[in-house]
Amino acid sequence: MNPTRRDAMGAAIALTVGSPFAPVRAAEPKLTLATFDAEVTIPIGHPCMGGGIAPAKEIVDPLLAHGFVLSGAGKPVVFVALDWCEIRNGAYDLFRNAVAKAVGTEPVRVMLCALHQHDAPIVDLEAQQLLEKHKARGAICDLAFLEKAVSRVADAAKTCLKTARPVTHIGTGEAKVEKVASNRRYLDESGKVQYNRTSASRDPKVRAGEEGTIDPLLKTLSFWNGDTPLCGLSAYATHPMSYYGKAG
Ligand SMILES: [Zn+2]
Repeated sequence: MNPTRRDAMGAAIALTVGSPFAPVRAAEPKLTLATFDAEVTIPIGHPCMGGGIAPAKEIVDPLLAHGFVLSGAGKPVVFVALDWCEIRNGAYDLFRNAVAKAVGTEPVRVMLCALHQHDAPIVDLEAQQLLEKHKARGAICDLAFLEKAVSRVADAAKTCLKTARPVTHIGTGEAKVEKVASNRRYLDESGKVQYNRTSASRDPKVRAGEEGTIDPLLKTLSFWNGDTPLCGLSAYATHPMSYYGKAG
């Protein structure tokens, strides 16, 4: 400890002793949390995977946005994850700005994720605008649908604030996941590096190869009100597909 620091501490102790008030700790932040969901299913005929595969011809499962708003430590923090393939460029800003405005926070405090299913949309504002400007035949996404989806998610984030409940405990946990993720690069029996494992590998030999270097842990962050779970957020790194391209 340097002398300056010690002096400063001595002064602080003297001040406390001489004060008629007992020293108090700074108030703990009073956190509250509310969760929300919104449907963001694409209309029939909307491109899937940015036009890389067939457009949607059947709704097998609705596409959803799940999120929560955590308030009480500065401006609210929002987390939202969509069952979409990708959210690119201006579409990312459009989403974060709308959600931030809806709950009274800054866009930088909105964490927006796409879970990356392939039978799902890629939204890219500028790319689609370019295609339309040049009257191209293809499309990446439907901008009118994007706008509707953004406002539906922003409305849900705003409405959920009425249901916010105090957070009394925060939990963390992790567990190893087996036989789900694998690295695209792996060593074969002869020790040679292979790069033949793709998004939907069908070759049994490739599938049976060693998993390679991955982060095998699924991590969960949970928020509680006493014994009642308010929200659990799990993260696991994988390219999440076993089949795709069925347009539904
Ligand atoms: Zn992908």
